[in-house]
Amino acid sequence: MKTVSIIVPCYNEEEVLPEFYKRSVDAAAEIHGWDHEWIYVNDCSSDRTGNLLAALAVNDNRVKVINLARNRGHQIAVTAGLDFAHGDAVVIIDADLQDPPEVIARMLSLIDEGFDIVHAQRTQRPGETIFKLWTAKMFYSMLRRIGDVKVVENAGDFRCVSKPVAETMRAFREPHRFLRGMFSHLGYEQCILQYDRDIRHAGESKYPFIKMAKLAADAVFSMSSAPIRSILWAAGITWGFGLLYLMYSVITYFTVGINEPGWTSAVFLLTVYTGVILMSIAVVGQYIGRIFEQGQDRPLYWVSKTHNIESGHFEQPIPEVKLARKTRVEDQETVTSSSMAEPKVFVAKRPADGWASVASDS
Ligand code: UDP
Ligand code: MG
Repeated sequence: MKTVSIIVPCYNEEEVLPEFYKRSVDAAAEIHGWDHEWIYVNDCSSDRTGNLLAALAVNDNRVKVINLARNRGHQIAVTAGLDFAHGDAVVIIDADLQDPPEVIARMLSLIDEGFDIVHAQRTQRPGETIFKLWTAKMFYSMLRRIGDVKVVENAGDFRCVSKPVAETMRAFREPHRFLRGMFSHLGYEQCILQYDRDIRHAGESKYPFIKMAKLAADAVFSMSSAPIRSILWAAGITWGFGLLYLMYSVITYFTVGINEPGWTSAVFLLTVYTGVILMSIAVVGQYIGRIFEQGQDRPLYWVSKTHNIESGHFEQPIPEVKLARKTRVEDQETVTSSSMAEPKVFVAKRPADGWASVASDS
């Protein structure tokens, strides 16, 4: 029997964990042909999340728990989960029930059909502020313009990937991570599964504006060298502007003589040029800061305690890419899209009485 590892990053999620556990266990019971394990990554929560997870692990040995010794943020928590996941497929899902666990069954059926990466794309985002929706929209449209890879729009980190993809991803160790972009970047056979997003079951968002802004910066500076290249444009434009101004001054000098004291224009030019220079230094600084952190080569996270994880797991797996991938015959028949083409889109329809009814009805 194949196994799916379900990675759940948790940061102060005591209010939702019991419900998440219950719903995801019910949903998993409906998945045929797959065994399941949950890899809960406690991102150094300050509430009772750690105790709740320890209790779940005692009663259910499919529940594996990794406690990080320091809060490292969502993207790194997911990375820790990926390092410990050994399933034939790996699902990444938030603990707050915004991503319905009932959708996992459909994701796995797409993996069975031969896809390697199933991006879950939100068709509805109830309960999100207009500000968040607007910034997300602007952000994706900017990424599309400058990014070297296409990031699937409106897809968070809810995703299902095959074992080869998870193993490949393990080799990517940059400290500033934008996982959804990195997965899109990997290639393989990708598809999109659309679903209706729910509101957060309880508790509040652990992504305040400042964390969102950091993630956005990671997305831009780790996925694209466009900002550093754009300096050349900015320099070109201001140079051109300066040159035109020089020509204008020379011409007016010879035709009408000096007729303005020049103070305004001097200040104007000074501010424009200083602005461009400072902006350029800042952009270069972003990359140098990242080079510095990469050069330090620190571990991405460190683990304080685990539950239900054998001692062999303890040593953090040395990233190793197993490139060889057995091609199943049915893969070739069902998968027609190439990873370079637009990914195929599927739809998971939300039942009229909500996602939770999927498991409880039957
Ligand atoms: N999370 C985490 N570490 C953090 C912040 C968040 O592991 O430092 C987890 C959190 O518990 C949740 C997921 O990341 O499972 C997404 O966070 P949240 O739902 O608060 O983000 P939002 O949906 O509001 O963007
Ligand atoms: Mg959420």
